Amino acid sequence: MHPPGLAFDVGRGEARLAGAADLFLSHGHLDHCLGVPFVLSHRTLHESKPTRVFCPAPVVEALSDLIAAAERLERVTYDFTIEGLSEEGRVGVGTDLTVEAFATSHVVPSLGYCLRRRRRRLADAYHGLPSGEIARLRAEGAEVSVEFEEPWIAYCGDTTVELLDRRPELYRVPILIVECTFLGEGMKGRGRRYGHVHLDDLAERAELFENEVVVLNHLSRRHRTSDLRRRVEERLGGLAERVVIVGESSRGRADG
Ligand SMILES: [Zn+2]
Ligand SMILES: [Zn+2]
Repeated sequence: MHPPGLAFDVGRGEARLAGAADLFLSHGHLDHCLGVPFVLSHRTLHESKPTRVFCPAPVVEALSDLIAAAERLERVTYDFTIEGLSEEGRVGVGTDLTVEAFATSHVVPSLGYCLRRRRRRLADAYHGLPSGEIARLRAEGAEVSVEFEEPWIAYCGDTTVELLDRRPELYRVPILIVECTFLGEGMKGRGRRYGHVHLDDLAERAELFENEVVVLNHLSRRHRTSDLRRRVEERLGGLAERVVIVGESSRGRADG
């Protein structure tokens, strides 16, 4: 997905990612990172700004080799830097915005990312005062507000549901992007074995999600988004109306 200026994973690569100056890769599986050379190539041709690539530290070497091979194929030098991150690594991505990495539970080295924003709120000492009084104090130079940082969007990459058990704070991030790869009885047990989430894993925890929006991505190609929507309605109770399914176009939901 790609809020202006950054992308969490790039899939197989798309021209619409050209505006992403910062790429955060969750892991080395090709459905997440094959598009890195494509995006770098596209940006080097069409964008003036360099690209920053961030990925789990153990992925840097192989990903650099993949990019280098693409540069040789194209006889072009891409304008980019690559940096390995570890859990709790932080990267500033613009005014008041920071991306923080967290470890996920997949079958290869993997990270998820949380976009955090800095905001200001009224300092406790001034709570309950009339707004005119606060304005007067501010005009006199009093520091009436304090700065704080809060999570905004969390992207979990590929992971088992163990991630949510280990990091319950993810249930309170306003926008949570979590994978749901498998559905149905026949696929039970596959989640843990292959390092993915099964819809039943989410159903067992449906009461815990306090998020404003839960975006489900990464559905296996053997399932259809309409099947996922049906199961979500059947199994997730009140959470269902806050669920957005990536690739579900018939309801006019966002994709990406
Ligand atoms: Zn994967
Ligand atoms: Zn994947």
